[in-house]
Amino acid sequence: MLACEQKLIQNSYYTASAHAHTSYPPLDGDAAADVCIVGGGLAGLSAAIELADRGYSVIVLEAESVGWGASGRNGGQIIAGLACDQSVIEKALGLEAAQQAWDITIEALDLVRERVKRFDIDCDLVDGFLGVAVGKRKGVALRDWFETMAKRYHYDSDAEWIEPADLNQWIDSPRFHSGYYDRRSGHLHPLNYTLGLARAAHSLGVRICEHTPVRTMTKGEPAVLHTDKGRITARYVVLAGNMYLPEVSPKLAPSLASRIMPVGTYIVATEPLDPELVARLIPTKSAVCDTNFVLDYFRFSADNRMLFGGRVSYSTMTPPNLKQDMHKRMQLVFPQLADAKVEFAWGGFVDITMNRAPDFGQMAPNVFYLQGFSGHGVALTGMAGKMVAEAISGQAERLDLMARIPHHSFIGGKRLRMPALVLGMTWYRLRDALG
Ligand SMILES: Cc1cc2nc3c(=O)[nH]c(=O)nc-3n(C[C@H](O)[C@H](O)[C@H](O)COP(=O)(O)OP(=O)(O)OC[C@H]3O[C@@H](n4cnc5c(N)ncnc54)[C@H](O)[C@@H]3O)c2cc1C
Repeated sequence: MLACEQKLIQNSYYTASAHAHTSYPPLDGDAAADVCIVGGGLAGLSAAIELADRGYSVIVLEAESVGWGASGRNGGQIIAGLACDQSVIEKALGLEAAQQAWDITIEALDLVRERVKRFDIDCDLVDGFLGVAVGKRKGVALRDWFETMAKRYHYDSDAEWIEPADLNQWIDSPRFHSGYYDRRSGHLHPLNYTLGLARAAHSLGVRICEHTPVRTMTKGEPAVLHTDKGRITARYVVLAGNMYLPEVSPKLAPSLASRIMPVGTYIVATEPLDPELVARLIPTKSAVCDTNFVLDYFRFSADNRMLFGGRVSYSTMTPPNLKQDMHKRMQLVFPQLADAKVEFAWGGFVDITMNRAPDFGQMAPNVFYLQGFSGHGVALTGMAGKMVAEAISGQAERLDLMARIPHHSFIGGKRLRMPALVLGMTWYRLRDALG
């Protein structure tokens, strides 16, 4: 675990509002399964559900507890698309494959709703997402993007453009110029959703072992995964450990680790607000995200708290004065919240890739990996797990398509990639500031 982590999670609104849930005993001794999944976050649990549905015996090994990682701490926004722009995928794979990749992200939104319904998961799911631009220049760029997306991806069947003069009907904020509303995207309580998926997987016969870090793996068919108190022999392995994987088990897959970089992002939750104020600020109760490179993302919780996310840290150190700093950022968007008390502040790390496209694929014929969601994984993890299950059961087309996206290692290795990234980010921050 990263040293700075535990303090951050302890003050999470999600932990404070988590439903009662099952604890799963650690692995003690040896066991065998068709598939062993490393990581009990959204990606690993999604793969577990899909594999169990297809008749495979599955064991999930989680170093901490289910939802402990990014899956239980995020902004809860379920959004169409990838973290990178579609042009990145078009350039790498061509328009037709990029359209298929886009469709996968739309299916991901439907999959969330399907699972919430099928497994009766109580996770405050709300429809609707607003993408908004800060300033005229970014508004014009967003409009161009929206028109391209409508033409090439038929995005206008799910989303509508909002002119500057109409934006105040959608969001009562002086900060934004224009935007779009996407009715198919939305938001949910991510920890309760993750815990619900674990319960669902367990009900399908999946064995989940919490507090069971995987230390090493002996490759082969079958592969053998070694933990502190036992071993799992498995025909297939799925690595879904996010950027924690190299922390917990540095020797397990070093080639994967060099292609992702941990970037800290933070969220605060206010006290519950007056429902009338909430209805005025965002009448649709949609999730909202701006288009800045270092972006703000926010939404209301089911009990009317403003959950406001943003800020980034490239040093893995928690920024000082987090509550005060985030409160200031929140007031730039909603001056009406100047007196709202901030009750919770927490954060986590996103696993960004160089091009912000997800990094899925195979390390060996029977070892699959899912990483690099780059801060855009709440919905996409569902499809990532589904595509791995498809591949294991002999239908690899969709996983292969995603695996064709090229990825590069961060320059400078573990020591130097950080300063290089900080330099790059300084430039993007400057661009954001210039509007
Ligand atoms: C603060 C924050 C806000 C975000 N906001 C959004 C958002 O609004 N919308 C969105 O789409 N995305 C968002 N994201 C990104 C999203 O949360 C992630 O993409 C997604 O949760 C990744 O899921 P995962 O299963 O890959 O990883 P995780 O949830 O991190 O799960 C990985 C698990 O693997 C375990 N593990 C690692 N190594 C080992 C090992 N060797 N042995 C056993 N277990 C191991 C870890 O303990 C961890 O629990 C956000 C992320 C953060 C941190």
